[in-house]
Formats: sequence, structure tokens, C-alpha cells
Amino acid sequence: GDLILVDKLLFIANGPDNGQKMINTMSVAQKLSLNEKKEFFLLKNAHSSSQCINHLIIGIFNLNAFAISDTASAICMLASGFNHSCSPNARYSWHVAGGWLRIYADTLALVVGEEVYISYISGRHIYGSHHKDRQNQLKNYGFICSCIICSLPFSEQEASDRRQVEIACIWESVPYYMPHQTADRLGAIVHTVHLLKEEGYAADKDDFTNDAAAICACHADWESVQYWVTKTYKTRVAEFGEDSQRATDIHNIYLDLKRSPDAGMQRKQKFTVGL
Ligand SMILES: [Zn+2]
Repeated sequence: GDLILVDKLLFIANGPDNGQKMINTMSVAQKLSLNEKKEFFLLKNAHSSSQCINHLIIGIFNLNAFAISDTASAICMLASGFNHSCSPNARYSWHVAGGWLRIYADTLALVVGEEVYISYISGRHIYGSHHKDRQNQLKNYGFICSCIICSLPFSEQEASDRRQVEIACIWESVPYYMPHQTADRLGAIVHTVHLLKEEGYAADKDDFTNDAAAICACHADWESVQYWVTKTYKTRVAEFGEDSQRATDIHNIYLDLKRSPDAGMQRKQKFTVGL
């Protein structure tokens, strides 16, 4: 992946729940300078019929803000212009230290004139979501998704829905395998990464490969840990950048594999499962 955009921040709104976040949004937006306000009100608003200034602020915020943590969302002007796809060819992330929103895309895979899409729904909400659920989640943005997956012919749409359900089932079952089923558990992870690839949205595959690394570390299979940690690290560098927190976390484990949590807690065993 390549860094294609570093966007400056207009403002961040915080809140432990949606109501609090909205209150914070109104107060922060009112404190913007005149020029910043002008910029903000240029952004799209799917609910622009209201005459009430607070309704307009909330309408713009809901449509354009990027979730950057569990409680905070950010308004970044240029990144707001990107359209959504359920099979996006780019991914955004928040760079905590810099205070930037960054977008990474595999520019070698893009052809001239191809639109760059991000996903407005987080990976966790795309797993297991049928085409209809996704349309529902996107309703607040005021459009019906006609991305490459959502406009598939019916039979392929059904196949996509089946894959999504399977991915979600595996994700939920991965923590519950018994210690003697570790090879099956790794097999399920490998299967999921392939399903994600077939689905055309392999973002978050690093979470699965990271799980595989932790599982192999439990059994003190350091060669396999190295294999899975390398996969995870490469994905995170490509999608979030080398200096991102997510890549740095993995890099630190890479330096001393035996330091990973739960290392060597289970019976020593060697696995030959890979992608
Ligand atoms: Zn879609």
C-alpha cells in the first residue's frame, strides 16, 4: 500500500455515547473560526432541510465524521470527499501522534481513472452483514450502495452473503477451540483469510493472522509465530504505515517473539499451517 492522502483535521468531537458526542460536536463547531465554519458548511449534508443551525451541524457531522477511536470522531475536509464501497480499494486510519487522517491504497493495483473508495462501515460490521444489512447501515448517509459487491447478480450476491456469514461465524468461534484442536483452529483462520480475499475485502485480515501468531506462541512454535507475525506486520505497514501504532505493536513482538502474551502456556507443538 501507498500513502495517498494525509489530511489535516478540522475538529474532533468526543463523547462516551452518541448523545454526549452530539452535544460536544455542537459546542466545538460553534467555536470554529469564521473561515473554518465556512469550510465546514461546504461539506455535504443528507439532512439539509432544517433551518436550525444545530441540526445542520449534526447533519454534516453524521455524514462526514470519521470514527478515530471508540469515543471520538474527526472531521477532515479532503477525506470527506471519498465515496463508499463495501469492497474498498483504500483504507483510512488515524495517526495518533501526528493528528492526521491518512489514506493508504495499493496504487499498483489501481488503473488510471479508477475511483478510490473507502468503506464507511468498519470491517467488523461488514463481516457477517448481508447485502441488505449493509444497505440499512448506509441509509443514514442518504444513498443506496451500488458498489461492485452490492450490484452483483442475484446468485453471486447470495454467494457473497454466505461468505460473510461464514466469516462472522469463524471469527466468533476462534476463541473457543480446545487446546487439542489447535491445528483445526489455524485451518479455520486460513480459510477465513481466503474467504476475505474472495469477497474482495481483505482489510482486517491482520486481526486473523495476528490471532494465528498468538495461538502458535501458546504452543511455543516460534517458526510459525515468525511466519504469522511477518504476515501481520506486512499487512499493517501496507494499510496503516510503518510508523502507525498497529504496525509498531507488531514490530515490538517481532523483536522478541517469546515476549508475546501467553507464550509457551500450552503443550509444545509444531504446526505446518500457512496461507
Ligand atoms: Zn456496497
